[in-house]
Amino acid sequence: MLGQIHSIESFGTVDGPGIRMVIFFQGCPMRCLFCHNPDTWQREGGMQKNAEELLDQFERNREFYIRGGITASGGEPLLQLDFLLELFEKAKSRGISTCLDTSGICFRQEDPRYQRLAEVCDLVLLDIKQIDPERHRHLTGHSVFPVLRFAEFLDRRQVPLGIRHVYVNESLNPPESLQELGRFLGRLRHIKSLEVLPYHTMGISKYEQLGINYPLKGVPAASKKEAQDARRQILMAIQEERKKTF
Ligand code: SF4
Repeated sequence: MLGQIHSIESFGTVDGPGIRMVIFFQGCPMRCLFCHNPDTWQREGGMQKNAEELLDQFERNREFYIRGGITASGGEPLLQLDFLLELFEKAKSRGISTCLDTSGICFRQEDPRYQRLAEVCDLVLLDIKQIDPERHRHLTGHSVFPVLRFAEFLDRRQVPLGIRHVYVNESLNPPESLQELGRFLGRLRHIKSLEVLPYHTMGISKYEQLGINYPLKGVPAASKKEAQDARRQILMAIQEERKKTF
């Protein structure tokens, strides 16, 4: 089976534990207003690779990947679920650690392949772009519910979860949404980390190259401090919810 791969980062240090080979999958159904990788949206393009080729590439440099492994990122890896499963199942049989970086948008509870996927993910980095349904649709063009159901599904299966959230500004990330996100996360038991990333404008040139209108034109980048404050609000709501739930 061939996967449609946008690119490979051979020395990734921010997408999962240790040093990792990050495989960026081609194709994403979302259209996040702040996306800095619009070049991954189309399903066509990039290169075609099979799982063995990718894992052989990892193994050739195995000694560099201290405490690391492979990370599937994108784009949206769940768009190529059969290929992702093959890659992760083969990685596990070679003793390679697996991490999935996803928006969760493709998740369907009734699809049995997700059960298999949960068994071969050592960590899932789940991007929750917004918790409020209307704001999520505005921000991404899609419903938030598959994302939330995916978080609950993984949590029930005890898959370690790292949550990622992009902070843009008070209008797109108002305090009530941050608190609601915290309350939702407070009901999950297997969260290992929470990253709140400040919105940045480094993707603008890609939109220009692709001839696409940049949706957040004029919106300034968020500061680290704003992102830290947002994270603090989410953490406080997590703690309050945990007192009630557990
Ligand atoms: S899910 Fe990721 S790749 Fe897809 S549009 Fe959103 S930010 Fe971009």
